[in-house]
This record gives sequence, structure tokens and C-alpha cells, in this order.
Amino acid sequence: MIVILKPNIAQQKQAQLIDWLKSMGLGVHISVGEFQTVLGLIGDTTKVDIDLISSLDIVEAVKRVTETFKCCNRKFHPEDTVVSVGSVKIGGGNFCMIAGPCSVESEEQIVGIAKDVKAAGANLLRGGAFKPRTSPYDFQGLREVGLELLKTARAETGLPIVTEIMSVADLELFEDIDVLQVGARNMQNFDLLKELGHTGKPILLKRGLANTLKELLMSAEYIMASGNENVILCERGIRTFGDYLRNTLDLSAVPMLHELSHLPVIVDPSHATGISRIVPPMALAAAACGCDGLIIEVHNDPPHALCDGAQSLRPEEYAALAKKVSAIREIAVC
Ligand code: PEP
Ligand code: MN
Repeated sequence: MIVILKPNIAQQKQAQLIDWLKSMGLGVHISVGEFQTVLGLIGDTTKVDIDLISSLDIVEAVKRVTETFKCCNRKFHPEDTVVSVGSVKIGGGNFCMIAGPCSVESEEQIVGIAKDVKAAGANLLRGGAFKPRTSPYDFQGLREVGLELLKTARAETGLPIVTEIMSVADLELFEDIDVLQVGARNMQNFDLLKELGHTGKPILLKRGLANTLKELLMSAEYIMASGNENVILCERGIRTFGDYLRNTLDLSAVPMLHELSHLPVIVDPSHATGISRIVPPMALAAAACGCDGLIIEVHNDPPHALCDGAQSLRPEEYAALAKKVSAIREIAVC
């Protein structure tokens, strides 16, 4: 249920209303917008008397929210959420380019790529240290060492770092990481989501391989219900009956998620397609349909990459794409 307050009401009256709602055992999520304040009521609202609340002189309207996701629902929070990572902002018209290798492989590799993508205007550096691989015999990532190398690359370039966390048990190791990524395979690792909710850190939440938009939003809800509003949603392709591509990039998810939720939505055309030459056209299409950012795999030597070389752009290809993305954004901000 949401309670929309009238503009310019006395703070004391608003506080009294909130206290009263809380005394009924409800959680109250307060969203202060430029024009309106919206109170989102969380919990069992079946016994709440809508007519009574509507009749209060400070209340403009009361509406039931039927969707099961509340905190991430745009009805609860009509204005776009802007997630801040240091001085980088994502969402609400702030576009973010995240680039870097699938996996951190060495200091030379990650620092070199970080410098290249920074020169091409990237805002954040990505790089996997803990890798969720389909085969246990494939490279599993440099783990703790990889996290340290990412920090070195951050110190050298000033780019904040994004890297995947696979397990609650590793949480302590990620204390000094700027954005924690929840990979597609962990989108419904509910214990991990709950713990990430307690960190307050920006979380990049990828859509699972075979998950609906509602399931993605319910996973965001797990993080937010534990107190962390800094969630960035990521469409990274889903399994369909496509044959020539790694996944099917569901670009219609971008405007739909923007309609349903106030959270920023970014797109990963690398894992969605699996083929480096298909990445630029899909990145441009994603920018054209209004996403809040892109996450793109870049490698200095794709044929010898330890993971996902086939979908990695070379630094010069990334730089050329970044320019085109800016051009698209100028003409097509949806
Ligand atoms: C990744 O970003 O390297 C990754 C493993 O992505 P996803 O979880 O989308 O497969
Ligand atoms: Mn990858």
C-alpha cells in the first residue's frame, strides 16, 4: 500500500502519521521526491483502513500495491534511484560504462586494460576474481590475489572496481570492493542476497539464465528488504531456443524494468551474445532503448584470455564502441 502525501505539509504531522502506521506493525518506506512524498507500507496491510487514512488532511491518495515486490517498485518510489559509487552516478539520467576483462589474470593484464578503458572514458573497471565456471576443470579465478590486483588497478587509474562475489563465506574479503556483482548463477542465492542487504554497498544484480523479470525484481527485493537500496539491475541475456548465440539479449526488459522499478538498469551485451563482433551492435541497441549503462568485457589479448576471450573486445574496439554509444545517447535518450 502507498500513501501519497500532499505537498508542503508540516513535518510534525507527517511524523505523527508515520509513528501511527508503525504502531500497527507496518514498515514505512519514505520516498521524498521533488514534488511529492510517498510512504510505502510494508507488511500485512489487510487490516489498514484505507478510508480512514484517505480522510486525513495531509493525505492526497492511498493505493494498494498488488505486486509482491515493494521496495524496488516504482509505485513506492516514483523517482529514479541514482546509485553512487564514489563520484560515479548510475541511473536517473546518469549513464555508466563498466569495462574490463572477464577474469583478472595478472597485474600487467589488469592494470594495462584498466588504463586503456579509462582512456576510452570508462567509469568503472570490471574483472572477475572468483569465477563461476560451468566446468570445475576450467580456470576458477585468482580469488584473493585477483581482488588485490583489482585494488592495484584502482590505485593506478582511480577507477572504482566491480567484481563478483559467489559466497557469503567470502564477504569479508570484499570489504574494500566498490561494487559487488551477483552473477546470473547466483541470482536466487537468497542467503547471499540477504547478507548483501546488510552491507549497504552497491550491488550489481544480474538476471539469471532462465529467470523472469518478476523473479529478478524479487531478488532485488531480498537485498533491499535487508536495508540496502543500492541495487543496479543487469540484463545479460537469457536461455531461449536460439542456436548461434550464447544467450538471447532481452532488450525489452529495459523499458519494462524501468516501468516496474525505480532501480537503474544496465545491459551486458558480452555474456548475452558470446561473440565479440555482435557485442557493438547490441551495445548500441541497448543504449538506444534507454539503459543506464553497459558492462562490457575487454581483453588485451582475446585469443589467449583464460575466460570468455571469444566475446571480449580489444581495447581499441572498446574505444571505438564507446564513442558510438555516446553518439547514440545524444540522439536517443528514451
Ligand atoms: C561475468 O560477468 O563474468 C559473469 C560470469 O557473468 P554472468 O553471471 O552474467 O554469466
Ligand atoms: Mn565473462
